[in-house]
Amino acid sequence: MKEVLLDIEQIRKDFPILHRKVNGQPLVYLDNAATSQTPQQVIDAITDYYSRYNANIHRGVHSLSQEATDAYEQARRKIQGHFNAAHPEEIIFTSGTTHAINLVAQGFTTFLSPGDEIWVSALEHHSNIVPWQMLCERSGAKLRVIPMNENGELELDVFKSNVGPQTKLVFVNHVSNALGTINPIEAIIETAHAVGAAVLVDGAQAAPHIVADFQALDVDFYTVSAHKMCGPTGVGVLYGKKDWLEKLPPYQGGGEMIATVSFEETTYAGLPHKFEAGTPNICGGIAFGAALDYLHGIGMQAIQEYEEELLQYATEKLLAIPGLKIYGEAPEKTSVISFNLEGIHPYDVGTLLDQMGIAVRTGHHCAQPIMDFYKIPGTVRASFCFYNTQEEVDRLTAGIDKARQMLS
Ligand SMILES: *Cc1c(COP(=O)(O)O)cnc(C)c1O
Repeated sequence: MKEVLLDIEQIRKDFPILHRKVNGQPLVYLDNAATSQTPQQVIDAITDYYSRYNANIHRGVHSLSQEATDAYEQARRKIQGHFNAAHPEEIIFTSGTTHAINLVAQGFTTFLSPGDEIWVSALEHHSNIVPWQMLCERSGAKLRVIPMNENGELELDVFKSNVGPQTKLVFVNHVSNALGTINPIEAIIETAHAVGAAVLVDGAQAAPHIVADFQALDVDFYTVSAHKMCGPTGVGVLYGKKDWLEKLPPYQGGGEMIATVSFEETTYAGLPHKFEAGTPNICGGIAFGAALDYLHGIGMQAIQEYEEELLQYATEKLLAIPGLKIYGEAPEKTSVISFNLEGIHPYDVGTLLDQMGIAVRTGHHCAQPIMDFYKIPGTVRASFCFYNTQEEVDRLTAGIDKARQMLS
């Protein structure tokens, strides 16, 4: 492995949780694709909010409310800047990716009729399958699937030769949480737009590793969850092009999303408030902004390069273990390794690793169709973040090898 591109020792000092022990061993946290850990800078932003300026936003004339509103709106602009969205009001705060996807799926009901088609990819998270199935039930539209191959890559030819004027919507994740594949969203967006279809990209798994440029991609909708990128749980973003968000009906009714209300008629607020009914996760939004500041402090480019090195190192190490098979070997991948040991259930491997202080995910990773494709019950998934080290990969490798000897 090349000399470290980041000062990992220094970075690790920012994460208090990385210094605790689990089952008597120093923690090796390799479940970053499920949620990432939180640096002290973000914890401080949360404490600061509740210690100094906790107040409801957009309503009060008093100073605390002004301060909270300013900080929340500043976070929105940080997110806008990070992803290069054209307007701050194209950034809708949600409780996370799942909420963001449901908001769009619900809104599209009125735009679809029987005979229309919605495409999803074979590599989707359940949160990107079920809302579309529900949308198809409501609207009579048909769900079609972009297939995948053994490497865990999408077969775009099938998609390209079957889209047409009946194609209304395409949903694809930018990065698969189960396999780590980076999907060719540029080509998918281009193909979809050529037949007039809209594209929603689920960026929950991509955003911690790759910076999507919304304007360059010309993507219609994009979703992220703060908790996968060093922010808190319960907050995320739906990006939508202004034209789309103006057309889309509101998702929930309530305070904040209205302009005027009477029992005869209610008019909706403008963007982004039309989609932000009720008191939002104010502190969460502000802390999401702090998480972006933290990531920028390190540098997204440096993060990406370091993680690529770590992935390559870990892949080589793991493949040297007898009977270990990696699922998902696309050349374009983020730092996720999904694997199984021959003849051993993934759950048993995960349980033994936990006893050694190593946190991995086991199971179907909310992506059962992928497991069905490989005809396996699930995998063990080790997912790396920029604060993980080569030594931790070595401990993982030794742990898997020990588990293999104990279980076979
Ligand atoms: C985590 C994840 C989701 C769900 O995100 P939530 O924060 O749980 O709403 C959706 N899609 C992908 C690809 C994910 O990795």
